[in-house]
Amino acid sequence: MKRLYNLILACLLMVSLSACGKQAGADSSADKVMEQHGQTERAGTTEQTEQEQPAVSDAEQTEAQTENILTDREEQKIEGGDNTVMGDISFNFETKTVLLNSGYEMPIYGIGTYSLTGDTCVESVTAALNSGVRLIDTAYMYHNEEGVGRGIRRAIEEGFVTREEIFVTTKMWTDDYGNGAAAIDASLERLGLDYIDLMILHHSAPGSDVSAYQAMEQAVSEGKLRSIGLSNYYTPDDFDRLVGETTITPALLQNETHPYHQSTEMKEHLRQYGTVMESWYPLGGRGNTQTLFSDETIVEIADAHNKTSAQIILRWHLQAGNIAIPGSSNEAHIQENYEIFDFELTEDEMQRMTALDRNERFASY
Ligand code: NAD
Repeated sequence: MKRLYNLILACLLMVSLSACGKQAGADSSADKVMEQHGQTERAGTTEQTEQEQPAVSDAEQTEAQTENILTDREEQKIEGGDNTVMGDISFNFETKTVLLNSGYEMPIYGIGTYSLTGDTCVESVTAALNSGVRLIDTAYMYHNEEGVGRGIRRAIEEGFVTREEIFVTTKMWTDDYGNGAAAIDASLERLGLDYIDLMILHHSAPGSDVSAYQAMEQAVSEGKLRSIGLSNYYTPDDFDRLVGETTITPALLQNETHPYHQSTEMKEHLRQYGTVMESWYPLGGRGNTQTLFSDETIVEIADAHNKTSAQIILRWHLQAGNIAIPGSSNEAHIQENYEIFDFELTEDEMQRMTALDRNERFASY
């Protein structure tokens, strides 16, 4: 392991030297969009390569604890013992995907299904898939995995999508942490799927979340889960606690994130792991959306682009490097929320959005 690690570090040095030219060669219009926004996760420049070197040293120092190895994303996977980790998260606005540190592509935009039940859930999921959305977020706790599965099957039967094109996320609830394997099988059955694209632990729970995460690791090796991650871990220490005791680096962290709570510290911390931030309450959540929709800055930017406040907020999430999963059962809203790929926020507008951060959550948990 140590020899392999040294070899990888040597390779990384060489990669760093050649990174500038190679990044330029890999240019695409999506890259260009991201390069205009200095605050995004993506830089794709020599500057970022240089910034990452200390991160590699940090990883070396904590190797025994995490066995995490960072590298240029374009170097593809490094098979580093138990862990396979990629750094430099990059949102591709052409394919509307991001390459996770698990090696799987994930859509950067999706639909949340919290509070959607019964036929409403089925219809919302089918409508979202039919309008082009490819990421569906559910959870055991939403009691709608069956409805999500039915919505997916209906969209497949209607010929709008194939299973491979759809990315399904579900979450393991804390009550199930003592018997994670059974919880995973039960979610698979309720969804009616052979595999789940991403399963995340719904909440941090020191004392029981490590064994739950290990059950998900086992399910990855069995092909039941493709990627695994976390939700509601709000401090770097808490995140590192779990990472330090487990093997597969979380592909994603789903936390409350929106213009008034931009999760800046956690996102900076996640960079070293190549872990992507996903925003729940991307629009502030039920009961709070008007607070964000009527924010003066957001309204001004919306007017400038002839877009709605919701579209400005969602576009901001993507340019800031957050996967967004707004919830809605309203077909017009589902359509409206997806129409955010035909414009971009300027650097100045991104800075004005950044300035809205109050580090204030709407939810109390
Ligand atoms: P959200 O920020 O997406 O807001 C949803 C509200 O916005 C709803 O009232 C909806 O009607 C409204 N809305 C949506 N689009 C609109 C538009 N274009 N114009 C006007 N109103 C619009 O909040 P959410 O749905 O609670 O969160 C998104 C998803 O995140 C959830 O559905 C769920 O999948 C996930 N989630 C996860 C956790 C967690 O603990 N991991 C917690 C909450 C939510």
